[in-house]
Amino acid sequence: MSNIILVGAQWGDEGKGKIIDILAKKSDYIIRYQGGNNAGHTIKIGKKQFILHLIPSGILHPHTRCVIGNGVVVDPEALFKEIAFLQQEGISVRKRLCISDRAHLIFPFHPLIDTLREEDRQKRAKIGTTKRGIGPCYGDKMMRLGIRMCDVIDEAYFRERLANILLEKNRIFKNIYKSPSCSYQKLLITYRNYAKRLKPYITDTTLLLNDAIGKKKRLLFEGAQGTLLDIDHGTYPFVTSSNATAGGAMTGTGIGPTHIDHVIGVVKAYTTRVGEGPLPTAFSSTMMEKIREKGGEYGATTGRPRRCGWFDAVVVRHAALVNGLTSLAVTKLDVLDELSTIKVCVGYRIKGKIIRNFPANTRLLSNAKPVYEEHPGWMKPTGQSKHFKQLPKKARAYLKRISQLIRVPISIVSIGAERSRTIVL
Ligand code: GDP
Repeated sequence: MSNIILVGAQWGDEGKGKIIDILAKKSDYIIRYQGGNNAGHTIKIGKKQFILHLIPSGILHPHTRCVIGNGVVVDPEALFKEIAFLQQEGISVRKRLCISDRAHLIFPFHPLIDTLREEDRQKRAKIGTTKRGIGPCYGDKMMRLGIRMCDVIDEAYFRERLANILLEKNRIFKNIYKSPSCSYQKLLITYRNYAKRLKPYITDTTLLLNDAIGKKKRLLFEGAQGTLLDIDHGTYPFVTSSNATAGGAMTGTGIGPTHIDHVIGVVKAYTTRVGEGPLPTAFSSTMMEKIREKGGEYGATTGRPRRCGWFDAVVVRHAALVNGLTSLAVTKLDVLDELSTIKVCVGYRIKGKIIRNFPANTRLLSNAKPVYEEHPGWMKPTGQSKHFKQLPKKARAYLKRISQLIRVPISIVSIGAERSRTIVL
């Protein structure tokens, strides 16, 4: 034992990178199953900070093997940059990283479409994408217009497929967006070169992982983004274009659900959201500034300031259900250390009625008024606590109440960015 899926149980940026780094110590394989380089996990080791977008954060532990599953979309240029960065830092990647032969590739026309669409949307509602081409790449995958790792290394097939796909893309660029077309020759040369560099990493990772399970290796599935950004269970349409929830770990790797032992949901002790879409528990502007600064709430991928708010138990209870969470890892408790009163949202008032379940209708959510419970703040530093019992009494009471509301036990409490600032229960 044991195979663990780790997911974000809010809107992403919950501090998954740090928790993965802690769990990676006791894992053999760390696997990304969805998203692309729109994710950004920050891990602090001593004075060094690593921000990883595509390669599983487990790579920082030399004993692990890391896998980019079939559910991930890969921008080769971004991948090579990350490999070079890690190698520069003395971390070996070559023999430890495998990429699924079924993973789809991002092409320059994907970010281009992302940008053109988002600009066009200025007139309507923006989604707030990272413009890395992730959504259009998944769109092509679903429309059966994608190019996978196994396709790009099959040169004859790749030539033909690229030519067919570009025919349609260029018609769209020319006629709808009045923008210049993409050069077939240029793309062919670039991606032929990429294919050579990718080839040593490409393998049937479904077989690799099932084989590892047979050998009783410990697998850790690393979710990117968060439950409320999941294409099915999130605040649609202000979501990412893949299944960030636990189910995505199965379809995104080719592992059966019977092999999973735990599903850990990572939550901040408060709530943040980057990009567009409703955030019912958003702070007032002064409080927003204060927590944003204290918590360093700026996107790891885009640097965008995150909106911050009180802990929303309705959101996390929804996450507990759709992921089947077996425990919670609560991060950034230290950020609340100086507050005299801390609120927790336990329901929404919508059109005069109180509801306690997370609504599907994003428009209703935009008009939801949070129903709060108030808790006294502990007003003491938590960062030095080594055990749960060493946390201030009021901090423990706050955590216990969260766990009670979500109906899921807490297994980890994080009280600082460093590895050492972690309490394992
Ligand atoms: P992820 O995408 O879920 O991994 O989250 P991010 O990496 O975007 O955000 C987490 C940020 O918070 C990083 O800068 C971490 O170093 C930092 N962090 C993680 N856990 C804690 C914690 O318990 N306390 C504080 N103060 N910072 C933390």
